Amino acid sequence: MEFEPVICFEVHAELNTRSKLFCACPNAIAQGPNKHICPVCTGQPGVLPVLNKRAVELCIKTGLALNCKINPKARFARKNYFYPDLPKGYQISQYEEPLCEDGTLMVHLRDQELIPVGIKRVHLEEDAGKLVYPSKGIEEAPYTLVDFNRAGVPLIEIVSDHQRDPITSLELAKAYLENIRQLLRYIGVSHCQMELGQMRADVNISLRPKGSKGFGNRVEIKNMSSFRFILEAISYEMKRQEELLRQGQEILQETRLFDEARKITIPMRSKEDAPDYRYFPEPDLVPLDLSERDIQRIREEIPELPWSKAQRFMDQYGLSREEAMVITKEKGVSDYFEACALKFMDKRRLYTWITKELFRIVPREEITPEGCAFPPEFMVDLISLLESKRLTEGLAREVMERSLGGSLSPSKIVELEGIEIMDEKEGLMEVVKKVLVQNPEAVQKVKMGQVNTLNFLVGQVMKETKGKADPKVIRDLLMKEI
Ligand code: ZN
Ligand code: MN
Repeated sequence: MEFEPVICFEVHAELNTRSKLFCACPNAIAQGPNKHICPVCTGQPGVLPVLNKRAVELCIKTGLALNCKINPKARFARKNYFYPDLPKGYQISQYEEPLCEDGTLMVHLRDQELIPVGIKRVHLEEDAGKLVYPSKGIEEAPYTLVDFNRAGVPLIEIVSDHQRDPITSLELAKAYLENIRQLLRYIGVSHCQMELGQMRADVNISLRPKGSKGFGNRVEIKNMSSFRFILEAISYEMKRQEELLRQGQEILQETRLFDEARKITIPMRSKEDAPDYRYFPEPDLVPLDLSERDIQRIREEIPELPWSKAQRFMDQYGLSREEAMVITKEKGVSDYFEACALKFMDKRRLYTWITKELFRIVPREEITPEGCAFPPEFMVDLISLLESKRLTEGLAREVMERSLGGSLSPSKIVELEGIEIMDEKEGLMEVVKKVLVQNPEAVQKVKMGQVNTLNFLVGQVMKETKGKADPKVIRDLLMKEI
């Protein structure tokens, strides 16, 4: 018998708001523990939550981008549990009436196939604080500290469906997570920086005989914030469950922990179900009352999404699918490309200069039309210099690095520093002759038909001229002389 996994994600992402979900404390990186706290987010008696409007809008925006139905009368609910990082003893979340339900994400598998994945719901909730241990292992720590900076930070939770278009392979799981992250960054809902814990996932995994529609007992692995660990945990769990099933044993429904060093999951506790949390409607917050106009206004905020943008770039600028996928991966990069592409030039060359040269010297997250240290006008200018053969690729690279972060355009630098391609008149022929005299053996080899040796001689001339000459011209001159 063959088994297939049913994988279900609960992805949490921190929202890009200025303040927390129910108080005015900043939602930002703090200078030290317990700096961004107040009576509300530390759960003091007698305080009341005030809902952050922007957080509601960002949750709806996510729901709309995932083709969800929006519930105009959504409500908040209390999820009760005890943990030292949760000062109120409950988390304000959503339960029966979440903001967004029944969506679909079309996931790009291998940048080619489009596979629908059902989205069960997207809801809004607050984050908990953080426990800080003085030494590495939890077991050895003599005491624990608590930092409430994160308590009350707005989160969206995106739950994938286990029944309607579920995720049934490791490969699709990976693509799903990548696409969710890309989408949230594109629509400006979250930065999703995994290393800062801005995106985390819980995952449920169960196995069933391939082709069946039923469900096996599921195992949950909580709170992972690295794609690699998430996928390693799923892959380990698939093997473990399959072995047990083949031996005729039962899978225990439980929460397990992924041991990152040993790459295995270990039992943590038997899985809690919804009744364990004693959910009830949050009495301190009234239900929402959204109008069709509110929702429409948020819909209009959603920019062109990466997958349709990639298709448009293929049609409009003649990029291959692969190129279009690379250039639209980050919104900033795609906007940068477009800002340059609207000018006349060769789109292929532009693609190459962005992905090979700009990516080399500017971090991708910093590439936007407005904020890049090498702005689109400079790129257009530089490529024009290349197209009109006023620079070689080597010189262009040098000019690019020199104008990075400054106010002088490539043309200006070329003009001020008198940079230009060396041609025959500029003494290039002399250099060629010198190199030939210095390398008689190589000249012999070329005469005997060894083409590689010609490349060596071209290299020698390039070195002598410090990259100022066009390799094609050098090659021609060499051939003429030999
Ligand atoms: Zn606060
Ligand atoms: Mn949650």
